[in-house]
Amino acid sequence: MDLTYSAAEEDFRSELRSWLSANIPDEWSRPGFWEALDDDEDFRIRRDWERDKALAGFAGIQWPTEYGGRGGTPGMKAIYDEEMVLANAPRTVNPLGLTFLAPTVMAIGTDAQRKEIIGPMLRNEVIWCQGFSEPGAGSDLAALSTKGTRDGDDFVVNGQKVWTTNAVHGDKIFTMVRTEPGSEKHRGISMLLIDMHQSGVDARPLRQMSGASEFGEVFFDDARVPATDCLGEIGDGWRTAMLLLSFERGASGISQYTEFRRQYDEIVAVATSLGRDSDPVIRNELARVLTELECLRLHSMHVLTQVEQGRDLGFEASMTKLQWSETFQDLWEVYDRILGEYATQDTLPDGTDLRPLNAQAMWSRSVTIWGGSSQVQRNITAERVLGLPR
Ligand SMILES: Cc1cc2nc3c(=O)[nH]c(=O)nc-3n(C[C@H](O)[C@H](O)[C@H](O)COP(=O)(O)OP(=O)(O)OC[C@H]3O[C@@H](n4cnc5c(N)ncnc54)[C@H](O)[C@@H]3O)c2cc1C
Repeated sequence: MDLTYSAAEEDFRSELRSWLSANIPDEWSRPGFWEALDDDEDFRIRRDWERDKALAGFAGIQWPTEYGGRGGTPGMKAIYDEEMVLANAPRTVNPLGLTFLAPTVMAIGTDAQRKEIIGPMLRNEVIWCQGFSEPGAGSDLAALSTKGTRDGDDFVVNGQKVWTTNAVHGDKIFTMVRTEPGSEKHRGISMLLIDMHQSGVDARPLRQMSGASEFGEVFFDDARVPATDCLGEIGDGWRTAMLLLSFERGASGISQYTEFRRQYDEIVAVATSLGRDSDPVIRNELARVLTELECLRLHSMHVLTQVEQGRDLGFEASMTKLQWSETFQDLWEVYDRILGEYATQDTLPDGTDLRPLNAQAMWSRSVTIWGGSSQVQRNITAERVLGLPR
């Protein structure tokens, strides 16, 4: 395991840090700034800022230069993610496009798809959604029933997707659709790239317990998509999806560690403010999550070292997902216990604004579900990494 970065990577860190300090408005750090915005305004600010960042050359860090990326190393990407957290930069508004779709298009897209998709995505001109989950198909994705019927040069799509991140702000959606009538399970599915700005597509927000609607449901009612807007071969969408999902592998988790470690300090400050920092049970809990956090840091450096050496982690990536998501959730469960009777409040007696912390505590419930639930990750680890019987 290598715990250091190269001189070139550290130079990149300095350059990025200077740009961020000059380009993140001070008001974004003002308590209550983000909470006062509605979903649309929040999204617009983040979208514009991310476009400016891309135009300044700080996007697609590991993408080849021919696609407008920086051609950087995995270490540079880890530094980039870490610096975004340290600068309190807003989260990307295009995570599904940038993480999953772009590398898949680079790998198996047609020339026309590469040209039409990658540049506009990098500049945030097109926000991509992921249309996999359905009311009857989540972990068991092969149970999906959204149908595409061939009509001349087009497919006509009918069905419903759900839990679609950015549904109401999305421009296009990469969608798993059953295009072979009568096909079952993994066969006969295609990945269609559907324009969401058409009358046959209706995206509706789903209100979460935090009050935000960062995901929604998408209804297809005779939506049309040209057959040329299929990523990979028609009927071979399962293979395309497996390739697409593999691009999450190699995400090292360093930035998660950095973010969670800062949140840990904020949680300790809440315990101090409430005089609970001397409670031996709370101290024990805090020590336990701090230990988990340090394990996450070391695991992340291990993953980064492996990826830097060109090793594909394969199914071991399930262990990374399990580790960061469960550590995050444990951390925020300790916060809930510290709050006690203040759990329903927005502020502490000393004036501390709890809203951003409460939002994280609520968000933490979701991380062991999306991107493959913890139970499914444990199955994968048991069967595919450890070779245990089914
Ligand atoms: C915040 C958030 C954002 C999301 N964004 C998107 C998105 O943009 N696009 C998209 O397509 N989807 C998205 N999802 C959906 C997500 O991928 C699904 O919620 C997830 O795949 C689980 O599916 P499900 O909700 O249908 O639960 P189910 O699959 O019905 O699972 C219910 C429970 O059963 C367990 N379980 C299921 N199968 C097994 C098994 N074989 N062994 C053991 N236990 C099992 C699960 O772990 C879970 O506890 C998002 C979800 C969330 C929470």
